[in-house]
Amino acid sequence: MPRPSAEKALTIQSLKQSAQTPVETYSVELVCQTLEHACRLRASAFYIEPEKELLRTRIRTSRGLREEIQPTYPGFNCEALYRLSGTADMSPNLSLKAFKLTIRLDEDLFQLQCFPLTTAQGFNQISVKIQPQLQSPPILDCLQIPPLLLHQLRDTLQASRGLVLINGEDDYNVRRLYFSALQDLNTPARKIVSLEEISPLALPRITHVTLPRATQSVRNVFNYTQKLAPDVLGVEHSTDDLHLTALLHAAGNDQLQIVTTRERSTLDCVRKLSRSEVAPGALGSKLRAILSVHVLPEVCAQCKVVHHPSDQQHAWMKQYFPGFDPSQGHFAQGEGCDACAQSGYGKSRAIYEWTQVTPDMAAALSSNDFESFMTSMTLHEDFEPVSVKAFTLARKGLIPLESLQHLC
Ligand SMILES: [Zn+2]
Repeated sequence: MPRPSAEKALTIQSLKQSAQTPVETYSVELVCQTLEHACRLRASAFYIEPEKELLRTRIRTSRGLREEIQPTYPGFNCEALYRLSGTADMSPNLSLKAFKLTIRLDEDLFQLQCFPLTTAQGFNQISVKIQPQLQSPPILDCLQIPPLLLHQLRDTLQASRGLVLINGEDDYNVRRLYFSALQDLNTPARKIVSLEEISPLALPRITHVTLPRATQSVRNVFNYTQKLAPDVLGVEHSTDDLHLTALLHAAGNDQLQIVTTRERSTLDCVRKLSRSEVAPGALGSKLRAILSVHVLPEVCAQCKVVHHPSDQQHAWMKQYFPGFDPSQGHFAQGEGCDACAQSGYGKSRAIYEWTQVTPDMAAALSSNDFESFMTSMTLHEDFEPVSVKAFTLARKGLIPLESLQHLC
């Protein structure tokens, strides 16, 4: 039987079948369960660290490190996984090298960088970095965007001038939204230039330019790209506002600019703009809209049970949702089952927050009055904070209550 190549996507099931001995079965099951749990939590890494009488598994998410300890375990090794990578023959004396695997879970692909390590005491450990893979071509219609919002977003993009910010903490989802927006505009009639830190996708007809690290060079690149006179100029970058400043400085008035930011909420994004070096006049005249995306895990549909909020959760709900009658909530949680790798979490759910800049908001931005901007924004009839949207889903038992407490 041919070995699966490292480039080919494996499923959790095919990983499990790679085990050949009882110890391998235990080890592979443990890795698969931790991996699936980590992917469902949108974790960036996990670690399996056996010691003499205990086994520690840790999962790193944007909210910190989750640790689990098992007091006893029947030995752990990662040889079966290594064999799957197809990069080398296994030999017990061979020190394990780092390897890569691509895993498919539901509709998503994840690239894993696995770092096996044997400690001085002879224990096999493994650290795994997880990166969700963008699938080409990304399509706005596939991103769980509600129909009305999708319509508003497309109208704003098609209007073809001004600045649209795409914001969110989660790198993968921000990137996916950014490339989907570019792809939506990608017709032969438009010249599109995208400045990026890394290019996960090469989209046909779009000019992808890698952003340099040095500040001075950034400005030069912006000036250069403006000479190309693109109809759409995008910036996909995860750090500071330097790019935004340089972009607005260099940008023409008849151009659409799409820029990504990495703030927790739209309000945080506006707060950051207020502290940046971006000239208020430029923001006021150019900013058209901000779209923020948040990702929360759903309750696993296979092991869903009624959740009775704790006293602490009742106090929290009273504080943030004072008008809510807890007896009207149908909260749920997952107990943990084989389908969700005992995590209790199902697929991830994207939640969007859309702010279209009104004349009032633009005037407030131009006079550097961010307080008025935020007041107009939050009082606007269409504005619904992500915490409210998430709470609505939690009340219907679709997402676990615990997963949205950090949003408030
Ligand atoms: Zn389940």
